[in-house]
Amino acid sequence: MTVAAEGADDTPGGPTEADWAAAVAAIRRLPADARVLLICHVNPDGDALGSMLGFGLGLRRLGLRRLQATFPGPPEVPEPFRWLPGLDLLVPQDAAYPDPDLLICFDASSESRLGDLADRLGSAGAALVLDHHPSNTGFGGIHLVDPHAAATSVVAAELLDRLGVPLDAEIAACFYVALSTDTGSFRFEATTPAVHELAARLLATGLRPGEISQRIFDTRPFGAVRLFGEALGRARLEPGAAGGRGLVWTYATLDDLARYDQPPHVLDALIDPVRCTAEADVSCVVKQAAVGEWSVSLRSRGAVDVSRVAVALGGGGHRLAAGFTGRGSLAEVVDRIRAELDGAVLAA
Ligand code: 5GP
Ligand code: MN
Repeated sequence: MTVAAEGADDTPGGPTEADWAAAVAAIRRLPADARVLLICHVNPDGDALGSMLGFGLGLRRLGLRRLQATFPGPPEVPEPFRWLPGLDLLVPQDAAYPDPDLLICFDASSESRLGDLADRLGSAGAALVLDHHPSNTGFGGIHLVDPHAAATSVVAAELLDRLGVPLDAEIAACFYVALSTDTGSFRFEATTPAVHELAARLLATGLRPGEISQRIFDTRPFGAVRLFGEALGRARLEPGAAGGRGLVWTYATLDDLARYDQPPHVLDALIDPVRCTAEADVSCVVKQAAVGEWSVSLRSRGAVDVSRVAVALGGGGHRLAAGFTGRGSLAEVVDRIRAELDGAVLAA
């Protein structure tokens, strides 16, 4: 079975004027000592951290004093992002306000991406959700979910504009990291004129894009370089998968990470050399997160809607980039992906 190509557009629309007004009002009504908790998805990437910290700095400029930012899981920020402005807003999840006056969620498509912090959706005075995943489940109270936005930071920047907060160099650095992460350095389909217009505004604050790109894309420990070599060396190409569009995949285990003395987040970039494979539309990296638990990254070169595969297997994402957590053995997880792929091929 094939599914309709995008453009026929079954993608839901973005926020309405009423949604924006509700979000602005929820922030404007806060007294300076209101407790505001900002959270983003587990294993945060550049967009999750950048949109959250940039927005947090914006709230600080509005005079809010009790701001916390956090994410589920170990409180370690991946090395490429350890220089971001606003890191002082971060607290470990256990230290986060149990019942904030306002909760703001960034870049999370579903409650499950918030781990143990999802309980704040019930205990917070109000819950505002900023996101750009078409698979967003509609959780939370006030929704600023724009599936046409290239990154959650596009939504965050518009909300700061509507609140009258000027973009300074610190906020801009956070949003630039977010925007360049989610557009693959302005290469992906979502790179619209509006993306470049926002990038121009951000750069005009004095950012050094070469330095930022080198830090977030082009720097990794030698152990990670060698680990990538091993993982790429065992990649498999399955030309018949996905209705003949082809699948290329590889994996990395906790043992691999230990042998090369690397933290799990270094594997976030492993999908990039894998997805270059000309003979496969779909690429996949299966990363062991625990015994019997695998974090899966899926990409498509255009012929397959990998978010369908991810959603069917309990995850989410975008048409050309998606993921899920798989349980069982490596072989079982890959079998389940193969089984879903045929139904996710887009009509020509
Ligand atoms: P990545 O492969 O870079 O981790 O993620 C690609 C896309 O899929 C991102 O938009 C990310 O938010 C989404 N994604 C990755 N893993 C999961 C998951 O386990 N659940 C959901 N809902 N989305 C995921
Ligand atoms: Mn994002």
